[in-house]
Amino acid sequence: MISVQGKGVSGGVAIGPLYCYQRAKSTIRRYEVEDVDAEWDRFKAAQTKAIEQLGELAEKAREEAGDEAALLFETHQMMAEDMEYEEAIQTAIRDKKLNAEAAVTDTAAQFAARFAAMEDAYFQARAADVKDVSDRIISALTGVVRGGIDSPVPVILAADDLSPSETVQLDKSRILGFVTEGGSDSGHTAILARTMGIPAIIGVGDQLKPEYEGREVIIDGSTGNVVIDADEDARSCLLRKMEEQKKMRELLEQLKGQPNETKDGQSIRVYCNIGSPDDVPAVLANDAGGVGLFRSEFLYLNCDDYPTEDYQFEAYKKALSDMGGKEVVIRTLDIGADKQIGYFDLPKEENPAMGNRALRICLNRPEIFHTQLRALFRASAFGKLGIMFPMVTSVWEVKEARKMCERVKEELTKEGIPFSDHVEIGIMIETPAAVLMSDRLAKEVDFFSCGTNDLTQYMLACDRQNADLGRFYNPHHPAVLRALKMVCDNAHRNGIWVGICGELGVDLSLTETFLAIGIDELSVSPHSVLPLRQKIRETTIFDVKQKILEDLLSDENTI
Ligand code: PEP
Ligand code: MG
Repeated sequence: MISVQGKGVSGGVAIGPLYCYQRAKSTIRRYEVEDVDAEWDRFKAAQTKAIEQLGELAEKAREEAGDEAALLFETHQMMAEDMEYEEAIQTAIRDKKLNAEAAVTDTAAQFAARFAAMEDAYFQARAADVKDVSDRIISALTGVVRGGIDSPVPVILAADDLSPSETVQLDKSRILGFVTEGGSDSGHTAILARTMGIPAIIGVGDQLKPEYEGREVIIDGSTGNVVIDADEDARSCLLRKMEEQKKMRELLEQLKGQPNETKDGQSIRVYCNIGSPDDVPAVLANDAGGVGLFRSEFLYLNCDDYPTEDYQFEAYKKALSDMGGKEVVIRTLDIGADKQIGYFDLPKEENPAMGNRALRICLNRPEIFHTQLRALFRASAFGKLGIMFPMVTSVWEVKEARKMCERVKEELTKEGIPFSDHVEIGIMIETPAAVLMSDRLAKEVDFFSCGTNDLTQYMLACDRQNADLGRFYNPHHPAVLRALKMVCDNAHRNGIWVGICGELGVDLSLTETFLAIGIDELSVSPHSVLPLRQKIRETTIFDVKQKILEDLLSDENTI
């Protein structure tokens, strides 16, 4: 038995023969060309062909794995015709008189090296993309077809590092899992594997030898362990885990369409947290009731400049229409602290978590807020929208934010642009001030959503980013749980609903507590919806409610 350790980036256990991916390498010839115009035309024809192929791949990926997977190939299309990239190839052909294949190879190497040298892991991973795009253009120039899987049975695929287009071109019905020598967590192979639900392990280096090919291998995507020719004990242990996962998935599948209701009939809404309209298919696939938190700042983080009203409108409209009338709560811009954006040009702060962030930026720079609110209200005509403001501390902030909403609605009315009259306006409860003022704040809004990630940080004065503070950052702290109860009571006294959209919502050890204090909605990641539904449906809240509430307020509950 040989055991190899890598990094699991997509969960699940798979067993099958190891297959080493053979990439069809085209040998690149280098020579000097006389007719540089003809060579440039050869390049342009190959580039057009590559862009067409990428368009087809984008469609295939969209069908198999949704919009996010398709976006990879659309990005590749853009890379293939990137002006700087094209100019570098043109210089190599026209000035150095290089043949097109060599010009593309050299340019790819230059660009890949530039990406690899960047500090940001995301950009480092883009080195593989530029090589991939260039290989495609070279294939179009040489006519050499790229590699595939030549095996009659499904396999565990081993490769140095699969490129996104290689991953999507593979016949998935013959792949049980991926193991790659290199790769990164934010690399596209990992992203695609997760979206497609195939176990994947990256970073095993040179531990997988070519001579292992054809031998039985078991991979565990949650631990990153790869076992070749497992002994009886390891084999039966991993197979048992695989069987349990399969049963669990089947069991959870049966929960689709079932209510989130305790045995004694108390129900709670289970919604999802998303960062982009591309996450909506996963929300629907997991049968969530709606979106409880759309972190709109990801739209801003993905842009090089302030996203325009139209750009934002399209994104919000897409999320709302794709949700087919189910509620979508979109949080207004929440940057600052851990989420910095260069083009906002925010002055450096001594204490950014307590600085100019979230709603404070929106109120200090009303033009940014105004653009976002216009986009949001315009999108409200296409579904059931809720808008919520992050990092609230005072009633006046909410009043000012609502005033801006009114101004936007008046403008849209004057311009004859349709919007919904039923947009719910809520706030996030993330600060001790908002907790203590929740009786008063509840009179200003339609709902509360508790951001327990920040609420824990601010209640306990404990930086959520600082890994060294591990045991001090405790969201189970009675101060946090009592705060949630107080917020819940104040919300209900004023006839509004209250949810939790921080990570605590998915903590199954607290589901009974949330039910006991009367939380109305939990918003969690899409893959957590069904396990949470299972937990709710197993609970009889009447039996435990009184004790939970007593414990919460008891003198003994000090931690
Ligand atoms: C939170 O603070 O709990 C929250 C949901 O917001 P974020 O994690 O985006 O700050
Ligand atoms: Mg927060």
